Amino acid sequence: MKIYKKIDLTIKPEFVQEYRNGYPLISKESIINLNKIEEEGVILNFFDSKNKFIAKGYHGIQNKGFGWVLSTEKNEQIDKKYFAKKIKTALACRDEFFNSNHTTAFRVFNGEGDGIGGLSIDYFDRYYLLTWYSKGIYEFKDDILEALKQHVDYKGIYEKKRFDTKGMYLDNEDDFVCGEKADAPIIVKENGVNFAIYLDDGAMVGVFLDQRDVRYAIKEKYAKGKTMLNTFSYTGAFSVFASLGGASKTTSVDLAKRSRPKTSEQFSINEIDPKTQDIIVEDVFNYFKYAVRKKLMFELVVLDPPSFARSKKHTFSASKDYVKLLKEAIQITSKNGIIIASTNSANFSMRTFNDFITKAFKELNGKFEVKESHTLPKDFKVNPKFREGNYLKVVFIKKLF
Ligand code: SAH
Repeated sequence: MKIYKKIDLTIKPEFVQEYRNGYPLISKESIINLNKIEEEGVILNFFDSKNKFIAKGYHGIQNKGFGWVLSTEKNEQIDKKYFAKKIKTALACRDEFFNSNHTTAFRVFNGEGDGIGGLSIDYFDRYYLLTWYSKGIYEFKDDILEALKQHVDYKGIYEKKRFDTKGMYLDNEDDFVCGEKADAPIIVKENGVNFAIYLDDGAMVGVFLDQRDVRYAIKEKYAKGKTMLNTFSYTGAFSVFASLGGASKTTSVDLAKRSRPKTSEQFSINEIDPKTQDIIVEDVFNYFKYAVRKKLMFELVVLDPPSFARSKKHTFSASKDYVKLLKEAIQITSKNGIIIASTNSANFSMRTFNDFITKAFKELNGKFEVKESHTLPKDFKVNPKFREGNYLKVVFIKKLF
């Protein structure tokens, strides 16, 4: 069993209560004797100025934070047994997913929501994908892997390293860890719909699992007979669900060249001829101009931009530019049409997002009605002491003019 280095630290008085209450994210500012910490992956034991134990965690640098609290129990050791306990509990919470015949892709471990910040584990039809969000958490790899193997039947295990402070994926290595190698792609199911998943093809595997409920709502309630514009479409997941839900036609727009073959593939594996759909490789902001010029109107418009993106001509930041994006979309949405506005930006709240929506409609002198809203689905467990971990915000808006 690996023994981890431990360091005792004193916490500034104003931060003590927060950690005692279970706040999981460690901030640099809260630690008095910072200079004692040399490398990532060490166990940090927190004490107050009277030397009373507060909590223990590990040091790992992510774009937010300096590490994560793992326990507020003084006698709890951070070892293989600890990781096994957390993983076992997380697996039990996902019983209904494991027992499902129509969904074989979901999250089994969601970072601090399941007690260990900086680590996520996704399930893709008997393959497990671990994502390490810092060098620090990666130091625990052997124990975490052993703990996972002990508790699951797996075909193979893969990993992604997102170590640098911007959370960027490190692309220099093989993502395969152990077991059987996966086909490229493997076909998984989500509510009966097929997805092609590539476990070893760069940072992203082909689907964002956190939008499952949104895709389902589109297919079941909003798509029938409608024309859809899906912007920032990636592999076209929303378009495929809309099409299967009876959309008369979908148009998917993404800047990345890979999106065309990827989207065609997603249609094909669901028995939809991609030639019957429009798949456009272009900057969304140019496409809006084109659509206005051509007087195109859509009955269903999806907006799912990255929190931050830079293209040749535009820089887009969700917190600064979402109102503008909405205004562009509103203009090409038909009366009584639905805009599905989504953001994964952790920088602002659902309330602020709703303010953006109100502002955009107000500036265009138009009325709207919110039909439904979504945050993270059940398998993306959120820590009640860390609500900002619930980054996803999706609002279905009906345009009333
Ligand atoms: N909606 C997708 C996920 C979007 S990921 C899904 O449900 O799977 C964000 C996508 O935005 C990426 O594929 C990226 O290529 C694309 N993108 C970023 N900036 C863009 C721009 N200005 N115009 C078009 N696409 C853009």
